[in-house]
Amino acid sequence: MNVDAQALEFQYMCAQDEQIKGASHKNVDTSKHHDRRSMAFFNCESHLNITIQVVHHILTAKIDLKHTNNHVLYQAITVPADILDYIELNRTKSMKDVCGHNT
Ligand SMILES: [Zn+2]
Repeated sequence: MNVDAQALEFQYMCAQDEQIKGASHKNVDTSKHHDRRSMAFFNCESHLNITIQVVHHILTAKIDLKHTNNHVLYQAITVPADILDYIELNRTKSMKDVCGHNT
């Protein structure tokens, strides 16, 4: 008889795995497209599956990790919050005032 609790499963993939590339769909409205760099994707066949479960009254975690391609490291491609704040604070100023040049 199994009296252990139901398992909790968490599944993750590499952010640069080409398997998830097709999952994002572009908005057909070109006015809503953002001008940003695209991220490189790789055939890294990744997965990270974590299963949490009580087995024989002991909390256990099963971790299954696979990543087959030693590709370049992920780099954030969004504008950092402090830079967005700086832009918002200075958006009505002239280039001369923002850069601090008095020439
Ligand atoms: Zn990867």
